[in-house]
Amino acid sequence: MKFGGSSLAGSKEIVQSASIIKRYRDSGASLIVVCSAMGDTTDFLLKAVEHAKKGEIEVAKKTVAEMHADHNSVIENTISNPLFREESKRWVAERFDEIDKALLGISLLRDLSPRSMDFVLSFGERLSAFIVCNVLASLGLKTKYMTGGEAGILTDETFGAAEPVPKQTFDALRANLLPLLEKEGVIPVITGYIAETLDKREIITLGRGGSDYSATLIAAAVDADEVVLWTDVDGILSADPRIVKDAKILDQVTYLEAMEMSAFGAKAMQPRALEPAANKDIPVRIRNTFRPEVGGTVIVSSKKASNGIKNGVKAVGSLGGVGLVSISGTSIVGRPGTAVKIFEILKELEVGILMMSQSVSENNVSLVIKREAIPKVIKALKKDLLLEDPDSEERTQQQQAVAAVLGEAGGGGERRELMKKRALFSSGSSSRFSKLDYEDDVAIVAVLGKGMIGTPGIAGRVFSTVAKQGINIRMIAQGSSEINISFVVKEKERSRAVIALHEEFVLGSKSEAAAIPDVAAQQVVQATHQ
Ligand code: ASP
Ligand code: MG
Repeated sequence: MKFGGSSLAGSKEIVQSASIIKRYRDSGASLIVVCSAMGDTTDFLLKAVEHAKKGEIEVAKKTVAEMHADHNSVIENTISNPLFREESKRWVAERFDEIDKALLGISLLRDLSPRSMDFVLSFGERLSAFIVCNVLASLGLKTKYMTGGEAGILTDETFGAAEPVPKQTFDALRANLLPLLEKEGVIPVITGYIAETLDKREIITLGRGGSDYSATLIAAAVDADEVVLWTDVDGILSADPRIVKDAKILDQVTYLEAMEMSAFGAKAMQPRALEPAANKDIPVRIRNTFRPEVGGTVIVSSKKASNGIKNGVKAVGSLGGVGLVSISGTSIVGRPGTAVKIFEILKELEVGILMMSQSVSENNVSLVIKREAIPKVIKALKKDLLLEDPDSEERTQQQQAVAAVLGEAGGGGERRELMKKRALFSSGSSSRFSKLDYEDDVAIVAVLGKGMIGTPGIAGRVFSTVAKQGINIRMIAQGSSEINISFVVKEKERSRAVIALHEEFVLGSKSEAAAIPDVAAQQVVQATHQ
């Protein structure tokens, strides 16, 4: 089982998490515990690193000192056995010394490599797992603290987003963990998020939010019966409870559904986190640490779920903070390879595409990207796709097209070059109208569920429901996964669309005899794309 940052945020939370572990253990289950960093520790470490990089070592040190004090007070409040308590304080002090030294190095050099970044960020999990390990020991449980690397997660050298080397990782995890579980009855307490490179055994991270991935990798290696991801929400909900008052916990969803849903406001998860579990068909349960009486959502394969999971719409999600870019024009978009060109431009800028659609006539391509990327994307598309001078914003598209047709290329040499490039890229037609539009006040709404698209009439119902609300749809994309229908509306109409769809497909808790959980009052993990 893995405990997320919010489940280990402070003394109270850690005591609660430890009591869950003890209960499992006392019931005879053998288990492995994976820990995230306490609360927002990783973010604080990141801040400290950023300060150090700017040479602001005093500010960095202050942040770190506060973290040290927090960790110490957690030790005081959670570890009752004085021996374990003192040992923990001493060990934690040593780690904070290491953090200070690393930050000093970074600040002296004013240089931060991805390697040193991972080194510093790794301390959050090292501290939390060590403390949790001692809290459990203090409760009389047999435990063993291990880093992800010590447990056996061995990776390539992509610092900041390491990828485990499957064979070696699985072999090492099995060799290191199975004897502890089977022979010694020990609970391994392992750091999430961090691992070691296969070759040089350097500390590396699996990328932000990587602890879920650590847990599923470990579970797959030891053939666990189940993975439990303990968090601060009741499970995956049929909608964001801040938008839809009677959003309901979904009992079961498939791996694919869960991946789609996590992108749209359900429990945020690294997309690859479910893969190891899915490969071995191990159920992943999402449960609320603070409401352990709630069963949560279990994520399973469609094979396992076949009798319990209905096909069709299961959830309505949405995502703000995005913008819509559309590129149109017969000469530009009709040309084969344009989509590739667009992808290249966005890749160069390191901007991900959240949604894309191309009209049948092929004279329009629409993209949804993160809102903050809009200015640089527009600029780059103008320059590299439309071959315009990105700084002459005042010039209208029409003027440019007319100028191009008239071959007004007699200006300076640079301008002549530009015209030449344009001519090269043109399909040869004389209608060279090309247009770039964007809207930055939009949101994606997604209707999610397996088998939905294969079920006749659902898409029609989706769009007529939205139309009945008088909401204009700016763009539609229907994934080939048959799991989601997404469309774009104005941000201000987002909630109305979500509420109407949730009602249309009767997804709410009121539709069932079950007790209505007070989900509205809870915090939800918001899928802010970071
Ligand atoms: N502590 C890391 C993070 O905040 C990893 C995790 O929580 O999964 O990104
Ligand atoms: Mg975290």
